[in-house]
Amino acid sequence: MTSIIAACDLEVGYGPIPVLHGLELEVNAGEVVALLGPNGSGKTTTLMALAGALSPSRGEVRWKGEVAHLPLYQRTRHGLSIVTEERSVVMSLTARQNLRLARVDPEAVVVDYPELADHLDRKAGLLSGGQQQILTLARALARRPDALLADELSLGLAPQITSRLLTAVRSAADSGMAVLLVEQHVRKALQVADRVYVLRQGRIDWSGTAAQALANQSRIESSYLGGN
Ligand code: ATP
Repeated sequence: MTSIIAACDLEVGYGPIPVLHGLELEVNAGEVVALLGPNGSGKTTTLMALAGALSPSRGEVRWKGEVAHLPLYQRTRHGLSIVTEERSVVMSLTARQNLRLARVDPEAVVVDYPELADHLDRKAGLLSGGQQQILTLARALARRPDALLADELSLGLAPQITSRLLTAVRSAADSGMAVLLVEQHVRKALQVADRVYVLRQGRIDWSGTAAQALANQSRIESSYLGGN
């Protein structure tokens, strides 16, 4: 398996006190890896460190086997994509203009996302939250990044939109992308994930396959209920 992005002994914080304590994880080409854990356990911090938005005080991020030194904006030009709960489309532009701005062909996007076909010429600000997020994700995936870091894509959205976003993420991985997925809907995340890491207080508390996680769901849920 080809490791696309990995955290090696990663220690990261926002000041002198670390939030991640020697974190080890990796995401390979073609897999969806779910990063689960209670609020404040360090999931977003992990994604920000992998993306290069936070510098480690110890350890390193590896990109395709090499130590990653590039800052965030350069990593996103070299095959890394980040999508968060914030729908990062330009609300005053149409869906079509948003796609063109990212050098993405709108006609190709609607083949994979037919639900956007009737909305291409509407301003993004007039789309529903779910449509905005599908547009955000479609735009990111259409650029065929090597890795996608997805942070709470479905926050505040209806269950069928959550399923739609996760299905899109799964098919992207099936075509070779490495996906690290932070998702509050644990069961839905496990349905599309290959492997799972559970974070607790900035450390990996459990890791295994999604099938093992489903079998151990009570243990994983107790990690949530126990606070961070
Ligand atoms: P949630 O599910 O609530 O988003 P999370 O698992 O993503 O939580 P993080 O957001 O990574 O967790 O937060 C981990 C720890 O880092 C928490 O204790 C949080 O208070 C702290 N933290 C997060 N962002 C900052 C910041 N900008 N400055 C200082 N501390 C921060």
